[in-house]
Amino acid sequence: MKTQVKALVVGGGAVGTSIAYHLAKAGWDDVMLLERDELTSGSTWHAAGLLPYFNMSYATTHIHDYSIRFYKTLEEETGLNAGFAVVGNLRMAQTDERMDEYMLYAATAETCGVPYEFMTPDEIKAKWPLIRTEDLKGALYHQTDGYINPADVTMAMAKGARQRGVAIERKWQADAFHWNGTHWEVTATKMIEKGGNLVPSDEQIVITAEHVVTASGNHAQRTAQMLGIKMPAIPVEHQFIVMDQDPALVEFRKGEGNVEHPVIRDADAQSYVREERGGWILGVYEKHAPARFEYGVPDSFRADLFQLDLDRIESQYEAMIHRIPSCEDSGLKDDFNGPICYTPDGNPLVGPAPGLRNMWLAEGFSFGITAAGGTGYYLAQLMVEGEAEIDMASLDPKRYGDWMTTEFAARKNEEAYEHVYILHHPDEERPAARPLRTSPAYDRQAARGAQFGWVNGWERPNYYAPQGFNDHDSRSFRRGGWWQYAVEEARAIREGVGLIDATAFTKHVVKGPGATQFLDWFTCNKLPSVGRINLTYALTGAGTTRTEYTIVRIAQDEYYLVSAGAWTAYDSDYLRKAIEDKSPEFGYIECHDVTTQWGVFAIAGPKTRDVLNEIVKDATPETVFSNKRFPWLTMRNIELGMCPVRAIRVAYTGELGWELHHPIEMQNYLFDQLEKAGEKHGLKLVGARAQNWLRQEKSYRAFGTELGRDATPVEADLPRFIDMSKEFHGKAAMEAHGVKAKCVTLLIDGPDDADPWGREVLYHPDGRTGRLTSGGYSVAFGKSIGMGYVKPEHAVPGTKLQVKMFDQLWDAVVTEDSPYDPKNAVIRIDG
Ligand SMILES: Cc1cc2nc3c(=O)[nH]c(=O)nc-3n(C[C@H](O)[C@H](O)[C@H](O)COP(=O)(O)OP(=O)(O)OC[C@H]3O[C@@H](n4cnc5c(N)ncnc54)[C@H](O)[C@@H]3O)c2cc1C
Repeated sequence: MKTQVKALVVGGGAVGTSIAYHLAKAGWDDVMLLERDELTSGSTWHAAGLLPYFNMSYATTHIHDYSIRFYKTLEEETGLNAGFAVVGNLRMAQTDERMDEYMLYAATAETCGVPYEFMTPDEIKAKWPLIRTEDLKGALYHQTDGYINPADVTMAMAKGARQRGVAIERKWQADAFHWNGTHWEVTATKMIEKGGNLVPSDEQIVITAEHVVTASGNHAQRTAQMLGIKMPAIPVEHQFIVMDQDPALVEFRKGEGNVEHPVIRDADAQSYVREERGGWILGVYEKHAPARFEYGVPDSFRADLFQLDLDRIESQYEAMIHRIPSCEDSGLKDDFNGPICYTPDGNPLVGPAPGLRNMWLAEGFSFGITAAGGTGYYLAQLMVEGEAEIDMASLDPKRYGDWMTTEFAARKNEEAYEHVYILHHPDEERPAARPLRTSPAYDRQAARGAQFGWVNGWERPNYYAPQGFNDHDSRSFRRGGWWQYAVEEARAIREGVGLIDATAFTKHVVKGPGATQFLDWFTCNKLPSVGRINLTYALTGAGTTRTEYTIVRIAQDEYYLVSAGAWTAYDSDYLRKAIEDKSPEFGYIECHDVTTQWGVFAIAGPKTRDVLNEIVKDATPETVFSNKRFPWLTMRNIELGMCPVRAIRVAYTGELGWELHHPIEMQNYLFDQLEKAGEKHGLKLVGARAQNWLRQEKSYRAFGTELGRDATPVEADLPRFIDMSKEFHGKAAMEAHGVKAKCVTLLIDGPDDADPWGREVLYHPDGRTGRLTSGGYSVAFGKSIGMGYVKPEHAVPGTKLQVKMFDQLWDAVVTEDSPYDPKNAVIRIDG
C-alpha cells in the first residue's frame, strides 16, 4: 500500500469515488481512496437512485446535468453497466402556484441547456392511464433523466478510477490529520470484523498527501472534529417503501409500446413513486423526520437501517393510492429508513475547508447519487486548475460561520428535509432556529413591522408591513403581498429619506507595516488615500471576482474593509490565507474580523442632510455634511448625539446618503436619535428588498449575483474599478480570460403581475444569449428591471432582447449603465 500520494480521498461512497475518478481524469496520476468498510457501505447502498434534474440553483443544475450525461458514458468506458434507466421524470402540479414554480425552474434550466417540456393532464392520462389526473393542473417532464443503481454506478466509477491509476484501499479508516507545512500526514487504521462490528485493529500507517478530500458521508461530524473545524452536515432519517406487484401495472406493461413509467413526483403530496419489478417504490419527504448522529455514527452502525416509521408517512401513502388507485391492494414488500446527510440549506459543502491548506470538503450530500458525477468533475477542476468553470460559492463550506452550532445544524437540517417539496418561493424565508443572530435594534424594528430575512444567521429587515401582516401568506412567484410595501420604501428613498439596517455587512480591519503593499497586490483598484474610500475587487487566481470590497483608509497603514454580509467566513478565510502567504514578502500584517463590533445604518434620500443636521454635534453643524467638508467617497468620524460614528459617504441606493458605522452597543441609542430626528422629515424604515431594486436602477453589481467566480471584473463591465497600470493578484489570468460574456442592465416590459427574480433565460433574435442574475421592479421607470450576462455583441445599449417568464417571452432593452441618474448628480449633490 502506498504511503505517499498527491491526493488522498477519504470515503468510498458515490461522491468520494467520483472525485477520485475525476482527479485522475484531470491528470493527477497519484490518487488514493481510503474506505473504512466496503465501497458504497455508507448512504450510497440504500439510495433509491433517482437522478432528478429539478433544482432551483444555477450551480447545482450544472452539477446534476453533468452527472446525468456522464453516467450514460460509463458503460462504454468501463464495460460495467451502471443500471441507468432513462425513464424520464414527471413532476406533477396540483395548483397554479406549483405550475408557476415549474415555470420559474424551467427558465433557469434553459440557461443551462437542460431539456424539459410541459404536459397537460390529458397528455399525461393518454400516456400513463394508471395515473389519476383530474385534480392536476399539469406537469413538468424531463425526458432525459430517470434512476440508476447507486451501487453499480459507484462500482463503474471505481473501475474507471482504477483504470486511470487510482489506488482504492478498503477497510482503512482515516483517524488523524496533521499538516506539516507542505503536506498532510494522515494516520490510517486497518479495520477488522469483530462480532459483526467493524473495529480498528492495532495496524496503523501514516500516508503523506499533498491534498486531502473528505467525502465521509454520515461520518462528517467525526471528520470535522478530527480537522478541528465546524461542518453543518448531519444526517436525517429518510424512508422509502417497496410494494408488491400491482396487477394493473403488470398488465399495462404488457401493452404494445407501453414502456416503464417515468419517476412520478407528486410534489404537493411530498412524495415520489417509481416502478420496481411490477410494483411501485414510494419515497417521501415527510414532516418530523429526526436528525441522527449529531455527535457521530456509533461503531455498531454499519450498512444498517433504522426502523420504518409508517405513522409518519401515512398521509403520503394515502396520497399515493389517490394518485395511482390501482396500487391500493399491493402489500408492503420491503422498506428502507436510512440516514441521509443534510445541510441547513440542502446544498452540499464542497470546496476548501475553513482555515486549512489543501484540505477539500465534499460533505453533506442529500442528493448525492445525482450530484456525485458533477461534484467530482467541478471539484477536480477547482483542485487541479485552481477554479471551476461554474461559481462554486453557493456550495462553499464557508457559507456558515463560527457562530454555527450542532443544535442549529440539526434543527435546520430537519427543516431542509421537510422543505424538499414545499413551494420554493424565491421570497421564501424559513423559520427554524430563528431568531438567532440579532442586532440590538431588532426589537425596535420588529415593533415597527419589520419582516425579517435570514442572512448568514442575522435577522435583517426585508421590508416593513402593518401589524398583523402575514409574510408567509404573502409569498408568491409573482408580485407577493409585500410588493406594495417595497414600492413605498423605494419611493421614500428616491423622494424623501429612508433608513436601512446594514449591520450584517462583513467588516475586517487590515493594518500593519505590510498592509498597504499587501492590499495593493490583493485588490485590483487603486488604494484610497487616508480618509477616502474605494470600491475594489479581490480576484481569484483565475482572474474572476472572489470578493467585492469597499475599502476605507483609516490611517496610512490601516484599512477598514466592508464586504457582503452573507459571506463573512468565506471572505475572512481568503483574506487571512493571502495575508499569511504574503507577510514574509510585504511585512507584518494584522487582520481582524470586526463584523459583530460595528452596527451599520444606511441613511439615504434627498432629505438625508435635513435629518442628520438635527443630531450632529459640531461647532458648525450645518456644514458637516456639505460637499466641502464631507465630499462623496470620503470617511469622517462624526458625533451623532452621543454616538461616535464612522460615517462613510456612499449609498448603495444611488441617492444622497451615508453609511453610519457605529459601536454595536450604541445602536439603539442611535436608532432612537435618527428616528426622532427623522419624524418631521418623513424618515421611513426601508428593507433589503427595496434596496435591491434601487441598486439595479444604478447598475450596482451585487456579490453573489453579478459578481462571482465565473466572471472577471472586466466581464462585469467595471473598468473604472480596475487599475491596469499596477500589478495585482489575478491580473494576468483576467487578461487571458478575455470577455466571454458581459454584464448589462435591462428594462423589461414583463407581465402586469410579476417581475423577474434574476434566474431567467435571455434571448436575442439570433438565439439564447445569456441569463438574468438579478431582477425586480424599478420605481423610477415604472416597470421591471434586471441585470445579467449576455454575449458581448448583445451588450450594446439599445439592444432588444427577450426574457422568459412564465413560459412566455417578454421584451427587454439593454440600457446604458446606471439608467437612473447616470451622471451621479443626486449622489454628489451639495447642501
Ligand atoms: C433511503 C434513502 C434514499 C435515497 N435516495 C436517493 C436518490 O434517489 N437519489 C439521490 O441522489 N440520493 C439519494 N439518497 C442520498 C444518497 O444516498 C446520498 O446523498 C449519497 O449516498 C451520499 O454519498 P456519499 O459518498 O457522500 O456518502 P456515503 O455513501 O455515506 O459514503 C461515505 C463513505 O465514507 C466512508 N468513511 C467515513 N469516514 C471515513 C474515514 N474516516 N475513513 C475512511 N472512510 C470513511 C464511509 O464508510 C462511507 O462508505 C438517498 C438516501 C437515503 C437514506
